[in-house]
Amino acid sequence: MLRSEEPAHGLYLRLCDTNGLARSAIMRTLTGVRCERVWNGRDLHALAEISKCPMADLERSAFRGGSGRAIRVREHVLDSRDDLLKSPRRSCPDCLNESHHHRLWWDLAFIATCPRHLRRLASHCSCGRPLSWKDGLLARCFACDHGDVAAVAVEEADIYVVELDRWFLAQLGVGDVSLIPPALHGLQLRQAIQVIERTAVLDLLGYDDPNAGLYDLHMDAAKARAHGFRLIYEGRLEALLDRVHAGNVGDWIKLIRDSMIR
Ligand SMILES: [Zn+2]
Ligand SMILES: [Zn+2]
Repeated sequence: MLRSEEPAHGLYLRLCDTNGLARSAIMRTLTGVRCERVWNGRDLHALAEISKCPMADLERSAFRGGSGRAIRVREHVLDSRDDLLKSPRRSCPDCLNESHHHRLWWDLAFIATCPRHLRRLASHCSCGRPLSWKDGLLARCFACDHGDVAAVAVEEADIYVVELDRWFLAQLGVGDVSLIPPALHGLQLRQAIQVIERTAVLDLLGYDDPNAGLYDLHMDAAKARAHGFRLIYEGRLEALLDRVHAGNVGDWIKLIRDSMIR
C-alpha cells in the first residue's frame, strides 16, 4: 500500500529499504524493475506485481511523462526539466522519523523546505555524500555503512520560503488549502510559478525583461521566488507594474501565459 504523499518511485525505494538493500540496483537485479523507469511513470505493472500495490493507486501517484518535457504530477502538468529534481534525492529527516517513506514533493525543484518541520530539505547523507536514487535505504547513501540523514545538521528555513512552500503543497493537495492571491486565480501551477518568478525578477532587476530569469538575480532561487510570492500575496504587483511601466496585472499575466503555450 502506498503511504500518504508517497509517489510510485517512493514505494520502490521503500521496498528496497524494507528488504535492507543498500543499492537500488540490487532490486533491479532481483526483480527486473528499474527505479529510473518507475520514476518516470513506467513499469508500473511490474511494480504492482512485486509490491502487491493496486495498479490504480500507482497510476495516481506516479509522475507520468509523455512526449516532450511535460510531466504530470497529481493533477498538475509540470516541466520535467525545470520543476523536477532527480539529483540529488532530497529528504526531510523529521518527516522520515514520523513515517519512514519518501514524499512526492521532495522531488519538486521549486520546493526548498519542509513547511511542517521548518527546515531545508536535506540532500546529503551524514557521511557528506549526496543522496541519490542509486540508494536503497531511505535515510542513507549507497556508499557508506553507517550514515544517517537524521544526523545531518538542521538547516533552518527562511520563513518566507516556508510560506511559499506551504502554498505549493496546498496546490498539490497536501496540507490545508490556503488562500489564492487574486492575481494567481485561475492559473495552473506551472503558470503560477512563472508569474511568481517573473514578479521577483521584475522587482529585483527593476525592469521588465521577458528573457531574464531567476538565474540573473544571482541569489538563492527559493528566496527569490518567495520574494515574488510575497509581493503578489500582499497585493503589491499592480504598484510594481506601474513603477516599471509594464501595463496592468491582467494584461501582464496574459502575456506570460501566452508566451508559455508551446
Ligand atoms: Zn518534514
Ligand atoms: Zn553516506
